Amino acid sequence: MERKDKARLSGKSQLIENDHELSTLDLGTMEFMKWLMEENRESRDCLIVVKDFFENKYVILYDKCIRQSVIVGYREGMPWCMTCNADDCGHVGFAICLKQHFDRNDHIIY
Ligand SMILES: [Zn+2]
Repeated sequence: MERKDKARLSGKSQLIENDHELSTLDLGTMEFMKWLMEENRESRDCLIVVKDFFENKYVILYDKCIRQSVIVGYREGMPWCMTCNADDCGHVGFAICLKQHFDRNDHIIY
């Protein structure tokens, strides 16, 4: 408690102390960069594993932080995390990057 209050007073980001590591879009983006660089997708360093990807429909991820599958669906083209019930969590950030990546490279995983 004390540490969190201090962080707030100092104006520094509280995100680091959040127990849900993928709580912002930026963290999801960073996680995606990590994922891209990993040769072994099941690497322990990656917090996110891509389980399934259906273009413009939904993305199924596995989040090792919360140890559960996460579904990010698309509502009118905008990603929406059904697990967090949010459009600005790390899973959404990851899904946006994933979509851009495949749009650019014009290929599918597998
Ligand atoms: Zn989420």
